[in-house]
Amino acid sequence: MDSQIKEEAEKVEELEEEEQDEIKLIDELQEQGIGMGDLNKLKAAGICTISAVLMTTKKELLNIKGISEQKLEKIFDAAQKVSNCGFNTGLHFLEKRKKMVFISTGSSNFDTLLCGGIETQSITEVFGEFRTGKTQLVHTVCVTAQLPKSMGGGQGKVIYIDTECTFRPERIKKIAERFDLDPEKTLENILVAEAWTVDRLNQLISQAAGLMMEDTFSLVVVDSIMAPFRVDFSGRGELSERQQVLGKTLSRLHKIAEQFNVAVFMTNQVMADPGMNAAYAVDPKKPIGGNIMAHASTTRLYLRKGRGEQRVCKIFDSPLIAEGECVFQITDGGIADVAD
Ligand code: ATP
Ligand code: MG
Repeated sequence: MDSQIKEEAEKVEELEEEEQDEIKLIDELQEQGIGMGDLNKLKAAGICTISAVLMTTKKELLNIKGISEQKLEKIFDAAQKVSNCGFNTGLHFLEKRKKMVFISTGSSNFDTLLCGGIETQSITEVFGEFRTGKTQLVHTVCVTAQLPKSMGGGQGKVIYIDTECTFRPERIKKIAERFDLDPEKTLENILVAEAWTVDRLNQLISQAAGLMMEDTFSLVVVDSIMAPFRVDFSGRGELSERQQVLGKTLSRLHKIAEQFNVAVFMTNQVMADPGMNAAYAVDPKKPIGGNIMAHASTTRLYLRKGRGEQRVCKIFDSPLIAEGECVFQITDGGIADVAD
C-alpha cells in the first residue's frame, strides 16, 4: 500500500512541477524594480503571488502599512506586465479546469452525486441542522484529501480552521485506519488552528496562503464559517457591516482555492426560513449568511437526518451538477455508503 502511494506521489509530483510553473511568485517583481522590502510587506499580508496582487483591490492593498499610492501603482503595473493578463480563450479555461481534482467524500454514492467529489479551485459549502454530520464529513475529507489522486484523493496536506472547537484527532485516526493510511502521519499532514474572531480567521487565511507557497495542499476546511461572524457582529444594526466583512473573507478563500488548486470546504449553520410557510414546506430551513454566502459558494450541499446513522445530502445549488439527493451513513471510519 505504502509503496503504491509513494509511486503515485512521485508521478503526480512530476506533473505538479509543470503545474507549479503557472504560480508566479511576487519575488519576480524584483526584476521590474520593486524592492524586496515592499514585497515582504505584501507577503506578510498573505499576498504571495502575482495573481493575488491582481485579485486584491487597490483599496485593500493601500491598507497594508508602508504601501503608498505611488508604490502601489508601480507594483500593479509590474504585476500586470509579468502576468500578461487580459482576455483568455475558452480553451485556456478548459485546460485550467482539467487540473481540478475531486476529493472523495468517503461514500461512492455521494461522490457520484457530486460528479466525482469535493472539487478544487472552488468553495463547497455544506449546511444542515446540528448532528447532521457536517463535522464528520469534513473530518473524512481531511483524510481522503491526502490519498493519491488515482484513489480519489487530492494528494496534499490540509489546513483546518476550527471555529467551534470540534476538531477531533481521535476521529481522524479512525478514518485514516479505514483508508489504510498511517494515523500519525495523517495527523501530521493536517494543520489545525482555532479562530474565535473574524480578525483571527482572516489572519489564518493569510497564513494559509503563505504555507501553500512552501508545500502542497489540497484542502482548506473552515468548520464553521459563520460562527465568528455571529460572535463579532450581533443584532440587526451590525448586519450590513457583517455582510461586507464576510464578503471579503470569502473572496480571500476563493482566491486561495483558485491560485493553489485547493478545495475550500466549509460548514454552515441553518435557521428557520420565515419566508416559507412551515405548514407546507417539508423542511423550512435555510443556510445563514444571506446572498453574500450564496454567491461565494460554488456548490451548496444540504444535509438532513435519515434513519439512525443515515443522512441525506441534497444538492442545493451548483452551476454544473443537476439537482439530486443521496443517502449515506456516518460510521466509525467516517462517511460511507449505506451498508446493505
Ligand atoms: P453541529 O451543527 O452541532 O456542529 P454536525 O452537523 O457537525 O453538528 P456532526 O458532529 O458531524 O454533526 O455529527 C454528529 C453525528 O455523528 C452524531 O449523530 C453521531 O451519532 C455521529 N457520530 C459521531 N461519531 C461517530 C462514530 N464514531 N461512529 C458513528 N457515528 C458517529
Ligand atoms: Mg459540527
